[in-house]
Amino acid sequence: ATPTAVMVGTGVGALNGILIKGGEPLETMRKIKCLVFDKTGTLTNGRPEMTTVCLFVEQSLCSIGRFLAIAGTAEANSEHPIAMAITKFVKETLQIAAFGKCWNFVATPGYGLRCKVSGVESLADAYEARDRVSNGMVSPSSPSKVVIDREPLSRSVSPVSLPGSQSGSPPTYDVLIGNRDWMRQHNIDVPIDVDQKMLDQEKKGQTAVLIALNGILTGMLAVSDLVKPEARLAVHTLQRMGLDVLLLTGDNRQTAKAIAQEVGISNKKVYAEVLPSQKADVIRRLQKKTIKVAMVGDGINDSPALAQADVGIAIGSGTDVAVEAAQIVLIRNDLLDVIAALLLSRMTVRRIR
Ligand code: ADP
Ligand code: MG
Repeated sequence: ATPTAVMVGTGVGALNGILIKGGEPLETMRKIKCLVFDKTGTLTNGRPEMTTVCLFVEQSLCSIGRFLAIAGTAEANSEHPIAMAITKFVKETLQIAAFGKCWNFVATPGYGLRCKVSGVESLADAYEARDRVSNGMVSPSSPSKVVIDREPLSRSVSPVSLPGSQSGSPPTYDVLIGNRDWMRQHNIDVPIDVDQKMLDQEKKGQTAVLIALNGILTGMLAVSDLVKPEARLAVHTLQRMGLDVLLLTGDNRQTAKAIAQEVGISNKKVYAEVLPSQKADVIRRLQKKTIKVAMVGDGINDSPALAQADVGIAIGSGTDVAVEAAQIVLIRNDLLDVIAALLLSRMTVRRIR
């Protein structure tokens, strides 16, 4: 395109909340044959809400209050969307302003976190005293209707105690929160009834994470992240325009498939359980098929893939790292702007021919 065409194209884009960083992405965009969407925060709104709390052990071993206080205290150190959902829910349910003590915190992208936690007794006790849990549901004063499942699993002959939870010195917990692989990496077996409980949520497009305390698989939390209202229309239109639309996520395969189905992406086009470090590799492999590939994403974990793609498109509300790595930024966070960017590219370049 001529400098004038580029100026007009980027100018029209900017007026419409589509930031195009120069002539190259404007020209390349029209050659894109394959469009890869990240899931969390891109196809979904990225602000998941808690839906389910499951305790796998007897109430006497770990109460709901204690379980939530520990999970909240641990996740307060993470910036993952799942962590946001958990900490928000725990704060509201336990009616607390601050969490317990947490140290030795390590988060491994794509898997989960591990840390030590103490000082949760008073948080849990206040909650239990209020007895806000009734009939398996959080009482109506709780903001969201979260199902609380306290039925210990059949397989789990509950151990007599959680090491560290005895009276005496203040209890300290070794906490693991994450997916199945995270548990297995720490030699914690995930039995089939637990796997099934996770699958039940995942088939609904939710994400379930497991929690182990002092080496004992104690419970599960599930969160639901809603698909953006325009996602389905955007995907459909892009497909009608002849683009191959794919989904790329670090999340579990079942969850990814459910979300893909919701927006109209076929199962064959789903790349799930891809570690943040591998997202760019997937783009590279697609490019080997000699097609121009665009990636739409929002997270830190998307930025290498955004940089690798022929055109990286960042959601404006996304992380700074993603916005920097991308060549096009959608300020309005509207997925239909991907189509607008495509049309803008096609028209701008055609006009100067
Ligand atoms: P996404 O592509 O959806 O952003 P990630 O690669 O960030 O996924 O994470 C993949 C999976 O790792 C999550 O679905 C979750 O099971 C687990 N995980 C990551 N961080 C956390 C956390 N802070 N707490 C619990 N689980 C986590
Ligand atoms: Mg994301």
